[in-house]
This record gives sequence, structure tokens and C-alpha cells, in this order.
Amino acid sequence: MAVINGSQGATALVDMADFVVGAQVLVEHEWWLYVETTADVTGCSACGTRAVGHGRAPTTVRDLPVAGRPAVLVWHKRRWRCPDPDCDTTTWSERCAEIAPRASLTARARARLAELVNVGGDSIAAAAAAFGVGWHTAHQAVIEHTDPAIDDVDRLEGVTAIGVDEKRFLNATPEHRTVFTTQIVDLDRHRLLDVVEGRSRDVLAGWLAARGDPWCDRIRLATLDPAAGYRRALLDHLDHATLVVDHFHAVKLANTAIDDVRRRVQQDTTGHRGRKGDPLYRIRRALLVAAEKLTAERFAWMRAALDAGDPAGEVGAAWVAKELLRDTYAAVDLAHARRRLIVFFQFCADADVPELRRLAHTIDRWHVEILAYHSTFKASNGRVENTHMLAEKTRRNAHGFTNHTNYRRRLLGRLGVQWHTVPTQRIRGRKPRLIA
Ligand SMILES: [Zn+2]
Repeated sequence: MAVINGSQGATALVDMADFVVGAQVLVEHEWWLYVETTADVTGCSACGTRAVGHGRAPTTVRDLPVAGRPAVLVWHKRRWRCPDPDCDTTTWSERCAEIAPRASLTARARARLAELVNVGGDSIAAAAAAFGVGWHTAHQAVIEHTDPAIDDVDRLEGVTAIGVDEKRFLNATPEHRTVFTTQIVDLDRHRLLDVVEGRSRDVLAGWLAARGDPWCDRIRLATLDPAAGYRRALLDHLDHATLVVDHFHAVKLANTAIDDVRRRVQQDTTGHRGRKGDPLYRIRRALLVAAEKLTAERFAWMRAALDAGDPAGEVGAAWVAKELLRDTYAAVDLAHARRRLIVFFQFCADADVPELRRLAHTIDRWHVEILAYHSTFKASNGRVENTHMLAEKTRRNAHGFTNHTNYRRRLLGRLGVQWHTVPTQRIRGRKPRLIA
């Protein structure tokens, strides 16, 4: 264990105003840096009398890593005493903004830990492990850095287009039903605006009401999960905005219909639920893939499985209905889309499959919002799907959440705040002058 003393270089690297590094010791792959303040004169905060030293007490905090090694600061904190016998202040310890009393992490380490979670997407447990602290300490650091950014009123400013989605938060257990959230997204900047518990009209109406009329008046476009409650809330608060059911949500409805038909036909033909090896079960994912993304072999394989497991062609019909609905979105303009939607309705009417009748009925109730896609929205569709996918990914990464506040903080910290991080410059071609 080598102690290297008199370390101006280490003082420069630690880079804390008014602190010097007295010694550094390598303790089992960690740097232990012994630091102290340079101030040797101070006055009593109560009476101003020049204080006298009253010893030192070491305090230990985890700091940012140094050259890839975890680092610990051992601060020999000065204690001071007021010599004036008439003064009420007897003794006190020096303070430093970077190292809060009883903290186990420096302020900058806490900020970096929160960044690992919010920007890097690490779990709290992983970030805690990286800094050698407990989950609770890491969680507190994340709260401290995330909540003010989430609560910043400017975060919700400048929004003109929103997307409203329901997302599953907790699956049903014997103790509670499935818990849903409503997620509101800024479609222009594809940023998550909020996550609210529940998925009713009141939930969305309450959130919009809290934004106030001037905010609502600026919204020109809203895409929504096709749910009647959402539509009513949006019509109540954003009466001048165009409502759109985008490609993603419409296809989700069609995919649900495919799954429903497949399960029913599976049960009718085999007398049991889908199992490994059953033809319909094997193609359950391929059925949901866009036709143009299936290779010729995969398509042939899917056809063969339908021949084997779908005697009345009902699953095949559901697949065609999904593709016809997708065609509506791929139409070149509104008139074209209208014609294609009629083809879809005609097909569902002729197919004589109860799930497709239901699908056609739902699509009919939303045809205004579906066709509105062509008058307003087509250009930004890719970006919207991107936002859906990011939110979905974070939801999956955030498994294990049982607390809505933590879940919301985690999603908004990751997807709802523009964090300003200092970019690292390339070193090639740069010749900084040496300062010694
Ligand atoms: Zn005093």
C-alpha cells in the first residue's frame, strides 16, 4: 500500500474549490483521497470573533471515479470553537456544498448517478452498484435530480400536437385488477409529457383541465388510442384540434382481432389452447408481421400452417382484413384511402367471421379519425411509432415497479426531459497547451 504525499496533481484532478488532496492511497482497487480545506482562519457566525481550532473529524464519501477506479474522499473536517465566553455558539464543523452532512455520495456523484439512470437508462440497482451505495441512496439521488426537472413548468410549454395512449402498468394479480396508465406524448418533439394513473375520460379530462385553456387552445392535433372516453375528453377540451387514430393504433385493433380468431379456431379444431407444435400457434407472430416484411419462404410457411390449422379460412380472412386496413393507411390521398376503407368494410361483411364483424364495427365508429390521418398527419407517422416504441421499451425495462410515483418519475426522467449533458470532444487533431 503506497502512500504518495504532496499531491498537487491529485488536487487538480479532484478539482474542488478550497480543497487540497493531502495523500492518496490505493485500497483494494479504490482510490482513497485524503482531502482537507485550505481555510485556516474563520469567524464565529454569531459574533464574528476569530474562531480557534477544535480538532478534526474524518468523514468519508464516495466521489466520481478517478481513471476508472472508484474513489472515496476522506475529508478531515475541521471543528471550530468560539473563544468568546459570552457567545452562545460553542463549537461547529466546517461545511461544504459538495459534501452534505452525513451524505454517502458527493453532490457531483449524485448528479452523475441520476444521469446514469435518466440519460443512460440504467436501472437504479445498476447505478447504485456502480457507486457502491445502497438502492435507497441511489433512489434518493435520482429523486433529487429528476423531480425538479419534471415539475419545471417550462417542460410542458410549446406543445402543439399530442398523442394519447393507454399503457398497461401492472398486470392483474389475485389482489388487484390490471392497472392502466394514460400516457401523453408531445408529437413534435417526441417527448413524454406525462403518465397518469387510469385510462378513463375523467383521467384525461382532469389532466387537460390542469393545463388550462391557453395551453389547450394551442393544440392543433391529437392522436389517440381508439377509446371512447379519450375521444370525449379530447372533444371537450380541444374542440378545435383534429383527432387522428394513427396507423399504429388501428393495426393494433386488427392484430387483436387476428389473435381472437386464431384462439377460437384453435380451440374449435383441436379442443385445447395453442401449444408448441400446433400450426396456428407456431405462426401466431408471423400473422402480425406486415406482409411486405415476410420473406417468400416465411409467407409460404405461414400459408402451409393456415392450410393445416384453419379449415374454414377464418384466420386467413382476419389476416387479409389487417392487410386491407393497413392499405387504407398506405393510400396516396384521402379519396384513395376512402375507397380502400370501403374495400375493407366490404371484405369484413363478406367474410362472415364474428370477430371481423366486430372489428369493422369498431373501425366504422372511428372512420373520421382514421381518415383524418390523411388530411393532417401522414408525414410524421414514423416519429410517432418511434415514440411508442421507446415508451414500450422503457416500460419493459421498468418491470417490477409497483408504485406509480416511481414509475412516472422513471419514465419522465428517461423520456420526458431534455437533459443537458456536456458532449465529449474528439481528441484527435487537438493540441491543448500544457498547464503546469
Ligand atoms: Zn461567537
